[in-house]
Amino acid sequence: MAAMIQDPFGRTLDYVRISITDRCNYRCLYCMPAQGIDWIPHEKIMTYEDIFLLCSVLSELGVKRIRFTGGEPFVRKGFVSFLHDIRRRFPEIGIAVTTNGDFLERWASELIALGLNSVNISLDTLNPEKFLYITRGGILERVLRGIDVLAASGEVPVKLNTVVMREFNLTEIPELVRFADNKKVLLRFIEFMPLDTDVWSKQQYVSADEVLSLLPHRLLWQPLGRQGTSGGIPSGPAQYFRNESTGQKIGIISAVSDHFCHLCNRLRITSTGEVRPCLFSNNGIPIIDALRRNDRESVRTGILSAVSRKPRAGDTSLPEGFCSPEEAALNTFPADQNGTEKTGTKVFHEERHMSRIGG
Ligand code: SAM
Ligand code: SF4
Repeated sequence: MAAMIQDPFGRTLDYVRISITDRCNYRCLYCMPAQGIDWIPHEKIMTYEDIFLLCSVLSELGVKRIRFTGGEPFVRKGFVSFLHDIRRRFPEIGIAVTTNGDFLERWASELIALGLNSVNISLDTLNPEKFLYITRGGILERVLRGIDVLAASGEVPVKLNTVVMREFNLTEIPELVRFADNKKVLLRFIEFMPLDTDVWSKQQYVSADEVLSLLPHRLLWQPLGRQGTSGGIPSGPAQYFRNESTGQKIGIISAVSDHFCHLCNRLRITSTGEVRPCLFSNNGIPIIDALRRNDRESVRTGILSAVSRKPRAGDTSLPEGFCSPEEAALNTFPADQNGTEKTGTKVFHEERHMSRIGG
């Protein structure tokens, strides 16, 4: 039986997100700065062969589910055949994908055939002009057609992710809830996270409590708690609610107002092959050289080293009010290579763009 990875706080890490590219055909306002970001040169990005080796080591370490994300995974050439190869080589691993939905219709039949564990699709508005604005160029109709095909198949669990922004889509909450109910897909509202000072705005942030208060027929929504489990402990970022009358479920990811760090069983691997133990940290362990040398043992050691550095709670280099002083005090990252103590710094870093880390 495969080993299980546990961090110093007893959390079992059996779920990994791998970003397969930093590139994207959209430029969402909340994800990328207006001036854009420089794409990482191809030679620094993990090849599919690198990722196969990575998945093989992760499987040996007891990882049960891998989510492929980006950037936009479907902009990378060969992504769908890569998924077929992953499915064939690692039948024991559940595969999920996060996408902006722009290419879904094109690939829907193959995705259905692949038997994916879930496809998460970003959908922040149902208004075509607003969609064009928030994505800086996206066509809503294309995404809706993709959602329709997948949802109608009934073969792939579909989740819609909506980042709530005060002046953008707050008033659309009831409409989005009804849309998800009609399509019979799971909608999750996400608090706008301060990953990057260039794009985050406190004014636009809306707390999970406020989102809840705006649900249609608020009193009918009963909490279900977290639905994932890891090592017998409830896990997963979303808290779920069920409408007693219709049976509809929705999720709320409250990364800002209610830290779920103590339940976090995530590891992220960037497209450049850096293992990031925490989304809110710039710290990571590079494993790309080991992957390229085909050095399984060093890949394994790198992953375990990142796990051993997983903080109990998010990094303190976040806007004030994001992390409580108690949580900040529990941050356990050691000094970096230059001997600079990372804990307590207020430094933002371009590496914290969600499209680079892999959301
Ligand atoms: N391109 C794909 C997509 O948009 O779904 C996958 C990558 S994207 C970085 C993954 C998720 O991160 C999306 O659901 C997006 O809405 C979310 N995201 C990006 N920036 C965010 C932020 N600042 N706060 C909250 N969620 C964010
Ligand atoms: Fe691209 Fe996804 Fe970021 Fe939007 S949220 S810019 S689709 S990576």
